[in-house]
Amino acid sequence: MNRPRPYRAAVRIVPATHTLEGAGFGVYRPFPTPALDLLDPYLLLDEMEPIDHAPGEARGAPDHPHRGFETVTYMLDGEFEHRDSRGNHGTIRAGDVQWMTAGDGIIHSEMPSRRIQTEGGRFHGFQIWVNLPREKKRATPRYQSLQAAEITTLEGTGWRARIIAGSLLGVDGPAATHTPIGAAHITVEPGGRIEIPVPDGHNAGVYAFSGSGSAGDPPTPLPERSLAVFERGGEAVVVEAVSDAASTLEALVLTGRPLDEPVARYGPFVMNTRDELIEAIEDYNAGRMGSIEPAGST
Ligand code: MN
Repeated sequence: MNRPRPYRAAVRIVPATHTLEGAGFGVYRPFPTPALDLLDPYLLLDEMEPIDHAPGEARGAPDHPHRGFETVTYMLDGEFEHRDSRGNHGTIRAGDVQWMTAGDGIIHSEMPSRRIQTEGGRFHGFQIWVNLPREKKRATPRYQSLQAAEITTLEGTGWRARIIAGSLLGVDGPAATHTPIGAAHITVEPGGRIEIPVPDGHNAGVYAFSGSGSAGDPPTPLPERSLAVFERGGEAVVVEAVSDAASTLEALVLTGRPLDEPVARYGPFVMNTRDELIEAIEDYNAGRMGSIEPAGST
């Protein structure tokens, strides 16, 4: 049997597109776009654009449903307030992660906190959609609220990492996942290099959201706001920061065992078949995904 290549090549560099989400907030989106449908098992990656809101300007995503996957919110700056049809309510602050398994169906709202809405303020973060395998798409919804201090941190020569979920760089992140994945925020100093082992056959992507560098072997330029997609075979991915820049490279690393199942999407629902999508729409319209209690009633 052939031993896998030690280092993977970056087979594609996908620039993020800019679009509007929710009630009109800007996101940088490397996928899904016409250029890249998904990074199995990841369905969507949105960088909620860094913005300094004036008072009364901040917009979020009012009540909407999800079924068939997980939504992950990772805040870098500002505060997101979450409320859902299962009675959960909480504030996601800078450095916090909310890992929500929509599973069978949930309705939630994701809004800038009341403080940011009235006073204004800086806002920056990520939303990631993680697919669920067929047998878990209708799982009981689950909500994991992780404070910044709970995120596993790791340091090497010229780099730091916050392991959000799964297993990466030999340590486990705090969020429990349904399939083997790894998600981390890495910071690479100018001229620094990080080597991230990824199980052979798992997908791997690195999204540079601040600064630029190179990805893979051979090194392929990785501009700011672009995603490196690596070949599936090989033992590790390598990311390097530009050495002559004052700014460090900040990136999100997403790895995972691909589900290799059919993906049927319709807005906030992601199932395996069109019939299951129709069922999801009918269940939502019939009120079977619940509703959110008005604020103040819980
Ligand atoms: Mn949502």
